[in-house]
Amino acid sequence: MLGLMQDWPLLLHRIIDHAAKFHGERKVITRSIEGPIVESNYAQIRGRALKVAQRLEQDGIKLGDRVATLAWNTWRHMEAWYGITGIGAIYHTVNPRLFPDQIIWIVNHAADRVMMVDLTFVPLLEKIADKLPTIERYIVLTDAAHMPQTTLKNAVAYEDWIAQADGDFTWKSFDENTAAGMCYTSGTTGNPKGVLYSHRSNTLHSMMAATPDAMACSSRDVILPVVPMFHANCWGLALTAPMCGATVVMPGCKMDGASIYELLDTYKVSFTAAVPTVWLMLLQDLEKTGAKLPHLKRVVIGGSACPRAMTKTFQDVYGVEVIHAWGMTEMSPLGSLCTVKPDYADLGGDALLDLQMKQGHPPFGVDMRIADDAGRDVPWDGKAFGRLKVRGPAVAKSYYKGEGAEAFEADGWFDTGDVATMDPHGYMQITDRAKDVIKSGGEWISTIDLENLAVGHPKVAEAAAIGVTHPKWDERPLLVIVLKKGESATRDDILGFMQGKVAKWWMPDDVVFVDEIPHTATGKIQKMALRKQFESYRLPGVEAAE
Ligand code: ADP
Repeated sequence: MLGLMQDWPLLLHRIIDHAAKFHGERKVITRSIEGPIVESNYAQIRGRALKVAQRLEQDGIKLGDRVATLAWNTWRHMEAWYGITGIGAIYHTVNPRLFPDQIIWIVNHAADRVMMVDLTFVPLLEKIADKLPTIERYIVLTDAAHMPQTTLKNAVAYEDWIAQADGDFTWKSFDENTAAGMCYTSGTTGNPKGVLYSHRSNTLHSMMAATPDAMACSSRDVILPVVPMFHANCWGLALTAPMCGATVVMPGCKMDGASIYELLDTYKVSFTAAVPTVWLMLLQDLEKTGAKLPHLKRVVIGGSACPRAMTKTFQDVYGVEVIHAWGMTEMSPLGSLCTVKPDYADLGGDALLDLQMKQGHPPFGVDMRIADDAGRDVPWDGKAFGRLKVRGPAVAKSYYKGEGAEAFEADGWFDTGDVATMDPHGYMQITDRAKDVIKSGGEWISTIDLENLAVGHPKVAEAAAIGVTHPKWDERPLLVIVLKKGESATRDDILGFMQGKVAKWWMPDDVVFVDEIPHTATGKIQKMALRKQFESYRLPGVEAAE
């Protein structure tokens, strides 16, 4: 027997309809690419998104077509998402931090028909446009006054383009499983792989993200999504915020510490989210200026492990609660968040910080297990490592065009490629990417633990641990360090600081200092590049033995 409830497909335009109808005056404030702050609201965003939809249709864009965006977080980018998906076309967020060759590869792979682009990236596209044959038209996200002279095909200023539509348009209707968005993983090994979100998965994910033990968003929040819309759906915030009727502040292209501080302070931001490198810049700026964060209540930090020192500074110095989170492009992207369950309510000080080093527990809609190489569950004791596997309605079941099929297991689990532990209360902790883990004498050493410990040293800005070949142990850890500006330290300073804080056999065999550690387009340490850089490196003891 079927239930007798209404058939109400979970389509993304319902989110902006809801926001416009019940929170229409709530502001969306942007530091525009042109410079000035621009204020819009949900009613206006919806009105203009309808014009985007209507105008795309006039240009012949249909259900299932891909529309690329190469753009920062702005109100126009938000309008574009709702407009594109409102006719059943697919927004394909392209990460501008990728190498031009990778951009060419993914735009061709996705066969995007239209490219919406911010002023910042027009020169980049002009250089590669002849290699993007599927793009029929470039829409520059600006107005006539700022429209540059450009060689881009059929280029038009966004404001002129939508002015040709009257907005008298009705969203299209289709199945909720229709594709809505597309995002390629950065492909640190092999080619990038396309993840294809559906209207249903994005809507469910946004509801999940808003819940109190996830991001706890409400209409009373002022949300600053620093994490870009081209990085895994900006962790859902461009959908979750309108769903909740929260005020949104968009940072545009300026993500340096001073610019972010200015937005946090001026607009009394209560909640924000980004990768650790962004917060490193903010905290360094605050340290310099002595400014405080009286309005900010909580910050979600994920994408890479959040260093303990960062959590401590946010909480102890600025009174801002840190929510450590883990996720993946393949998961829309939220997988787990570290909020405090009653089991840990009594923790404080260092014990609470220890808990917050974990990536947390999954919200409803994410199922998780940790398995050994034979596929057996490992004990939930917070110590045993295993491969982290997930499933749920906002988890990918395949990559675009069926590539990378080995990650999708026959029993419905997706192998994340991460190695993790699970504690008795269901708190997951990432110890490594499976391909980065250091295998020493048959045992695993967590590079994340070593890195977290090293960045706790007051002179260390960034640390990366990699395995280097060792004749007896197969691999031993080498610690690569970037010092804070103007600081100096020796190998023994660093090792002395780490002594006694990790198992003896985990201690790095050597420390090297570099000016810079290579990063991926999503801000992660590029371990593969680093391993290559230190390919011919010999550990001190090894040289002596030869
Ligand atoms: P990419 O395109 O770089 O793969 P993703 O954001 O999809 O971008 O990367 C997901 C991966 O990032 C995870 O599989 C995990 O290895 C890492 N990651 C994300 N959040 C955390 C975290 N809080 N701690 C440690 N690693 C994390």
